[in-house]
Amino acid sequence: MPELPEVETTRRGLEPHIVGQQVLAVVIRNAALRWPVPAELPSWLQGQRLLRIERRAKYLLFRFEQGTVLAHLGMSGSMRILNQPMPPETHDHVELSFGNGTVLRYNDPRRFGAWLYYQESDEEHFLLNRLGPEPLSEEFDGDRLFALSRKKKQAVKLFLMDNHVVVGVGNIYANEALFNAGIRPAVAAGRITRARYHLLAQAVKAVLQQAIRSGGTTLKDFVNSDGKPGYFAQQLNVYGRGSLPCKQCSGPLKEIRLGGRTSVYCPQCQQ
Ligand SMILES: [Zn+2]
Repeated sequence: MPELPEVETTRRGLEPHIVGQQVLAVVIRNAALRWPVPAELPSWLQGQRLLRIERRAKYLLFRFEQGTVLAHLGMSGSMRILNQPMPPETHDHVELSFGNGTVLRYNDPRRFGAWLYYQESDEEHFLLNRLGPEPLSEEFDGDRLFALSRKKKQAVKLFLMDNHVVVGVGNIYANEALFNAGIRPAVAAGRITRARYHLLAQAVKAVLQQAIRSGGTTLKDFVNSDGKPGYFAQQLNVYGRGSLPCKQCSGPLKEIRLGGRTSVYCPQCQQ
């Protein structure tokens, strides 16, 4: 599943190819995504210039002159840029052609992604109006985690993955950040001190920044290829390493289930 760093990499990969360009045509081959792609999208977008591409949580926000296309990659979505005409593949559902001859193509085998259009403000949009702060913003810090967690019995890992607390901390990065901060995933959020929450917030920012940096090396893949950066080749300390030796103390890592997701931690390094 694309996580925040993949979405940010997608944003940066698309930007130089299509920002400033005018939409010539929109093709919807299959509108049946997580929500139906509006049939009017081609007429709404045609002739509009793309001003910039932003990201909020895992949503890509294509800012046009009169409105915004909100796109989400869902479970398996990916975007790619074509500089020459190529026949569509099976799961190529949406396509935008621009004045410079560039084509943006959206592929999504499982169709949990989204392509929506709105003209109201972000704060009024049902998918954006209750989101917590961005993890890489100053608004997200240890003080926020401490304040929101008081008296909470919820496991700290699930608390950290709650979009109202902070957006975009998926399973991989929650596991890694908790390891780097030395905090056990199942500890009650309300029992963690302010000082440890400061460590955790720093760890979240560091793992995401590292992933975004390594994603930068895959940017060339956006042009005339399958456009799937996949999971970045980065050093993962715990995710996917259940029962393997801890890289810090060599003891065996432990794997548990929390909220239906796999959690891996080191019983010695994480308390
Ligand atoms: Zn260890």
